[in-house]
Amino acid sequence: MTTEGMMLLPPAPHMCQVCAVAHPSHAPHNRDSLYYQMRFRSEHGRWPTWRDAVAHCDLEVQAVWEEALRERGAWDGWEGETPPAPDVFPTPGFIGTITKVKLEDDDGLEDDDGAE
Ligand SMILES: [Zn+2]
Repeated sequence: MTTEGMMLLPPAPHMCQVCAVAHPSHAPHNRDSLYYQMRFRSEHGRWPTWRDAVAHCDLEVQAVWEEALRERGAWDGWEGETPPAPDVFPTPGFIGTITKVKLEDDDGLEDDDGAE
């Protein structure tokens, strides 16, 4: 699944402008928000994880969420400091060619087709 060619409309003004879900600014984004997933992928070339969704929170909030998600087996954040590399998108198999179409005759004279 790719996001190429998709256009996302901005979230409603009262929603989080990153994930399009209503939550306090100090709380994590909703990793499961389709808007967040599509926006994140278009910006980073990969799908977001919960670690991405809590990255803007203070360290205490991050730790609480990570622990709670780990208890539920739902933590999908990468280990260490380096985020995953972007997904490799498939290479387009076909690139179109441009054909020049001549619009006028080279002689500069009107065509003699009998029309007036
Ligand atoms: Zn959010």
